[in-house]
Amino acid sequence: MKKTILILEDDENLNRGIAFTFEKDGYQAVSANSIKEGKRFMEQHKVDLIILDLGLPDGNGMDFCKEIRAYSNVPIIMLTVCDLETDEVSGLLAGADDYITKPFSLSILRARVEALLRRTEAESRHIIRSGKYRLDTNLCKFFRGDEEIPISATEYRLLHFLMTNAGQVLSKEQILSSLWDNKGNFVDENTLPVNISRLRAKLEDDPKTPRIIKTIHGIGYIWDGGV
Ligand code: CA
Repeated sequence: MKKTILILEDDENLNRGIAFTFEKDGYQAVSANSIKEGKRFMEQHKVDLIILDLGLPDGNGMDFCKEIRAYSNVPIIMLTVCDLETDEVSGLLAGADDYITKPFSLSILRARVEALLRRTEAESRHIIRSGKYRLDTNLCKFFRGDEEIPISATEYRLLHFLMTNAGQVLSKEQILSSLWDNKGNFVDENTLPVNISRLRAKLEDDPKTPRIIKTIHGIGYIWDGGV
C-alpha cells in the first residue's frame, strides 16, 4: 500500500511542486492549504508523514504540531523561513522530527523524508504505538509522549497484550491465559483487576473514569488509546 504524505503548505506553487515530486516517487501526496483542511483529512485517513509549514493562514504550524503530538506520533518535518538556531530548537521541542529551512531543494526534502520514514519503519518493528503511548518491546519500557512510565514485569505483559489487541474487547479469561498460562502457574483471579487498576493509576488522566483501559461490564477490558 502507498504511504500517505500530507503537505500542509499555503504557498500553492510550492505545495504542488512537493506533491508532484512525491507522487512521482510512488507516494500518495495530499495537499492542504490550511490547518483546518489538514485536520479534516487526518480525521478520516491514515497519514504516514506530515510536511508542515510554520506560517499558515489559520494558525501556527508549531502550535498545530504540539496539538498533533498530544494524540499521535506521526513523523513530522517542519518547513520554515527562519534559520535561527533558536527556531530549530523550539521546532523540535514542539515535537517535530526534523526541520528544513526555506528555500530548500526538493531533492534535499526527498532525502529527509526517506530517512525519516526509514527510521520510523525500523522503529515500528519493536515499538507498539497507540495514540501518545508507546511500548518498546526491545527495552521493555513504556512511554507517554517522551515521558517514561515505570512498570513492573506483570504490567508490561498486560500492556503488551492489551496494546497488541487495541480496539478489541478482551475477556478476562483471554487476558489471563495470554499472560500466565504458558508457564502453567496458577493465577488468582484478583491479579487482573489489581494490575489493571495499577496501570490506570499510572497512565490515565483520571483513573476513576478510565478512557484508555475501559471496562466492558460482564466481559473484560478494551484498550482504547487511539491510533
Ligand atoms: Ca506559509
